[in-house]
Amino acid sequence: MIRLTSNQRKVFEALEQAGKPIGAYAILEQTGFRGAIQVYRALEKLIDLGLAKKLESLHAYICVSQKAEIAPTAFAICDHCGHIHQLKEVREVRQLHECLAQMDFEVCRSVIEIHGACSTCASRKRNK
Ligand SMILES: [Zn+2]
Repeated sequence: MIRLTSNQRKVFEALEQAGKPIGAYAILEQTGFRGAIQVYRALEKLIDLGLAKKLESLHAYICVSQKAEIAPTAFAICDHCGHIHQLKEVREVRQLHECLAQMDFEVCRSVIEIHGACSTCASRKRNK
């Protein structure tokens, strides 16, 4: 278990409770911090530790399960219901990282976001 400061823990718990990606201001509201800067600082650290990911396309953050040994490498985001599927061990992503390593390119962060319709929403659309 990684030791977190109380601010980092509060932000992590807010993300866990949300169970979906939430923005920094929603976190601010939940944690009751005085300023957004505290939220952003805690988020930065959680991202560094691999406990959270920023989904740029949604301007939101999502927590990554601490139980998972392998961090998710890609997120499939349903634009209809907001469901997010965390993909782990995607062979193509691993190949991409190997390719980058061969180029001597040091990856700082990488989040792959794929938008579309989840299986439930896709079948609902088909049956319309
Ligand atoms: Zn859906």
